[in-house]
Amino acid sequence: MTAIGKSLAIVSGASRGIGRAIALRLAQDGAYLVLLGRDQKNLEQVQAEIQAAGSQADTYPCDLLDSTAIEAFGAEVHRKFGHCDVLVNCAGIGRMGKPLHESDVADFDAMIATNLRGPFLLTKAIAPLMIQQRSGHIVNISSLSGKNPLPNGAGYAASKWGLHGLTYSVAEELREYGIRVSVVAPGSVATDFSGGRSSKSPEKKLSPEDVAHVVSMLVGEGSRSFVSEVSIRPIQK
Ligand code: NAP
Repeated sequence: MTAIGKSLAIVSGASRGIGRAIALRLAQDGAYLVLLGRDQKNLEQVQAEIQAAGSQADTYPCDLLDSTAIEAFGAEVHRKFGHCDVLVNCAGIGRMGKPLHESDVADFDAMIATNLRGPFLLTKAIAPLMIQQRSGHIVNISSLSGKNPLPNGAGYAASKWGLHGLTYSVAEELREYGIRVSVVAPGSVATDFSGGRSSKSPEKKLSPEDVAHVVSMLVGEGSRSFVSEVSIRPIQK
């Protein structure tokens, strides 16, 4: 068991892909998991995997676009657990493949709402608990597209560049309470993200477990320091 043993960890986007891998890894590290996503069936499947490995998890199906539901979620965590040690904002969508002047307004709005407003809402709901306990770690899953140009993906890149700005600003607001806020920027990961449209071969992609490993290292680090940002690239280009 690592330093995060017996902690409570909330992971958004835990129903599949990277979020699922992060949830499984943090459970393996000893945390009690709260799994967030819209698809209850997938969430229950991840919960069953965690339980089969001897750890515990709750599921909480909700849409990150629904601010009232996220507020209610924060109140439920407060009531049921009274604390929260780790929040991983992983849920995200990618609607890419067109230059900005040909892209749909609805796709742009959906990406900003999920990838940027979603972490804003969840952080707003959970940070007061962490402030109260004067500890905690928030990890935002961004992308290398949050640090670089992404032609034919300007809206996605904008949502992730925004997430970097949100992360660094909130980190400054919360550090006086002993709360660490980090951003993780992976390259291509082998999931069904964005309809699995990436043409890269599997060996040139990261695995979801590669990202989960980094999150586990971040939340397990010593409490006197925090890592602001990590970029992750597959070894093969
Ligand atoms: P994925 O397999 O498509 O999973 C996306 C997750 O987000 C699902 O669990 C989905 O759950 C959840 N989600 C989406 N919209 C939601 C909403 N409105 N409310 C609640 N949950 C929602 O994608 P992934 O590859 O694991 O990506 C996870 C994160 O990593 C994203 O933020 C993505 O931008 C980032 N990332 C991915 C890659 C990559 O190449 N895959 C690279 C860099 C960064 P439900 O469908 O159950 O709601």
